[in-house]
Amino acid sequence: MMSKFDFHCHSFFSDGLLSPEDLADYAVEREVGYLALTDHDTLGGISHLQDYINLRQLPLNLISGVEISSSFEAIEVHIVGLGIDCFDSPLNQALTAQIEARWQRAEAIDLRLQKARVFGVLQDLQTQVRQVVTRTHMARSLVRLNYAKDMTQAFKRYLGKQGKIKIDKDWMAMEAAISLIKQAGGLAILAHPTRYPLSNRKLSFLIQSFKNLGGDAIELAYSSLTKDKQEWLALQARQQDLLASSGSDFHYPGLKWSDLGRFPSTPSDIEHVKQQLFARTLPKV
Ligand code: AMP
Ligand code: MN
Ligand code: MN
Ligand code: MN
Repeated sequence: MMSKFDFHCHSFFSDGLLSPEDLADYAVEREVGYLALTDHDTLGGISHLQDYINLRQLPLNLISGVEISSSFEAIEVHIVGLGIDCFDSPLNQALTAQIEARWQRAEAIDLRLQKARVFGVLQDLQTQVRQVVTRTHMARSLVRLNYAKDMTQAFKRYLGKQGKIKIDKDWMAMEAAISLIKQAGGLAILAHPTRYPLSNRKLSFLIQSFKNLGGDAIELAYSSLTKDKQEWLALQARQQDLLASSGSDFHYPGLKWSDLGRFPSTPSDIEHVKQQLFARTLPKV
């Protein structure tokens, strides 16, 4: 029997709450045998996770990964790269630039928060472990500083689509994200396609454009994806000749609906990226 796998999850190198080491232990506890760490815009956690697997001789196989924030026609689109060469220099340079842009964005958001009489978020951010700053970190600060009672309220009031703070989206183009992943030897995957604010017609156009720009696969199983929507997405994958990928988008334990290794299966007639990636795990020593 094939082992459980998960090709989309986060550590505290971006906005997850677990260290790569704790994530490895948690994967073993959840009987996940193949894991891709896909932090937002960083590869930083991967070597820590692999070193820990080696140190403890864990029954866990790691696949390199990243989730790149990108722009496509004014929409923010997340592109997951799997099986990439972590030492690839164009990819590392582009991610470094994006991490820097994220800091500038956080500073700009903090200035707007101050104008809205919300103080101390930038200072509070310094107390959180991470390599990449995201709105999730700012939301955590807003909760800790008592400007919101929970994360949902922090996004609703300030950082979300309807929030009062303008949020810049200064990401690389989707085309650039796909080609960076491809030239680093990886597979490019359109993450959680139904989470973008698009009509079916526009989402269909996004998927077609993703394919034309060199994309390999779309996620066909993740938490929150209903059976109806999965069927619609599967139709798109067949039409565009795209492979399937799947992952929980795990950020921290305790959420039943997005726990590590927990997501529906994908239609068996659509080839899954695991066929290629199970053979591309990082070396154990
Ligand atoms: P960023 O990439 O900096 O724009 O941050 C986006 C992250 O914020 C996403 O990866 C989600 O994990 C998180 N996020 C976005 N909207 C919400 C929301 N309404 N509630 C909780 N978390 C959210
Ligand atoms: Mn996230
Ligand atoms: Mn995402
Ligand atoms: Mn994610």
